Amino acid sequence: MASIIAPRGTRDILPGESYKWSYVIKTAGEVMSDFAFNEIYIPIFEHTELFARGVGETSDIVEKEMYTFIDRGGRSITLRPEATAGVMRSALENNLCAQGNFAKLWSYGPMFRYERPQKGRYRQFYQIDAECLGIAGAEADIEIINLSLELFKRLGLKNLEVVINSVGCEKCRPVYREKLVEYFNQHKDELCETCLNRLERNPLRILDCKKENCGKVAENAPDIFNSLCDECKEHFKKVCAGLERLGFKYKLNKRLVRGLDYYTKTAFEILSGDLGAQNAVCGGGRYDNLAEAAGGSHLPGVGFACGLDRVVIVMEEQGCSFGKIPEPKIFVIAKNDDARENAQVITSKLRSEKIAAVCDIAGRSFKNQIKNANSYEYICKADEAGNLELVKNSDDVHENLTLDEIVGRLK
Ligand code: ATP
Ligand code: MG
Repeated sequence: MASIIAPRGTRDILPGESYKWSYVIKTAGEVMSDFAFNEIYIPIFEHTELFARGVGETSDIVEKEMYTFIDRGGRSITLRPEATAGVMRSALENNLCAQGNFAKLWSYGPMFRYERPQKGRYRQFYQIDAECLGIAGAEADIEIINLSLELFKRLGLKNLEVVINSVGCEKCRPVYREKLVEYFNQHKDELCETCLNRLERNPLRILDCKKENCGKVAENAPDIFNSLCDECKEHFKKVCAGLERLGFKYKLNKRLVRGLDYYTKTAFEILSGDLGAQNAVCGGGRYDNLAEAAGGSHLPGVGFACGLDRVVIVMEEQGCSFGKIPEPKIFVIAKNDDARENAQVITSKLRSEKIAAVCDIAGRSFKNQIKNANSYEYICKADEAGNLELVKNSDDVHENLTLDEIVGRLK
């Protein structure tokens, strides 16, 4: 029988790698807490309708990337392709922003998209997600971008580029949309098949087509800045001014439109030069129309999603630190076979004193235990009578001590 392997686009994060992920998540938790964002756990699957409505029928995600199935109760269920719609659903359902309150929330976990797997692009991938709900003003956009940049700074990422745009709102985007359709209609023969389809359904998406020809056409397309209404213009100016005040460099990119339809006003991305084609480590923006699209009352929001897989790749490439690999401090060796049980009792007692300790549980000989133990900071040799000898590996000092004395020494 052929052995079973992991499904295409998924991967195992093995012990030699997992400490890096823990480090990034732990650092994210610290940054979130410094910014007063509260952690939220949301389901990994939701009703398909939430994403169809909240992410947008014409987005790549909903059109071709979702993992959708009918469950045993006959409901259409989708494995979440992103977190924002679920966080918004939860905030509405649990009244987190009732009476004009706002909520600053963060979360992390796996997302699922049926995509062509390649470096930095998987079918199960992980995101760190932050959302600020209930605030319409530019201060919230500034806070979100500040948060993402502080996270990357603490992780030690270098050579990042912040690109920012405004995608307008329900008042000014339809006008811009029309201008775009008119322009692209004149260049129909230069567009790829997908973009011809987008021309009908979602012409803004043509702007971020990665095909060379479409890119050239898009370069000369009407500029969204000329179509923004006064409110959107003002908002964008405030965001830019805020970023400057905080000392952040950014680039304007009028072709940054994001794949998701509920985005309004600010759209931003953080790019890394060390990622090749999959160069975005973080994408975000404002989504003032998501709550209503999901069937709730009006609730403005702004947030980001950071690709954990890609962050780890960039950190490896740039030689960033992942902190210390957690290792036991002491190896308790059984001097002979009669001392094995005693060694396990001593090890257990050390652990309940919160001292990271190991002993042999694989039946290895004294010689092999010693060989194995040399990489630990301390060795404790236990005999069958309960006598303990502590050895500090670095200076080769041997001492006969009681368990309490050893605990005191190691704490
Ligand atoms: P891309 O243009 O790379 O497909 P996207 O616009 O689809 O990105 P978002 O929906 O904005 O991505 O998700 C935010 C972040 O999640 C991305 O910037 C990226 O770091 C990460 N990401 C998205 N899709 C994947 C994937 N399939 N595998 C790994 N990371 C991903
Ligand atoms: Mg994508």
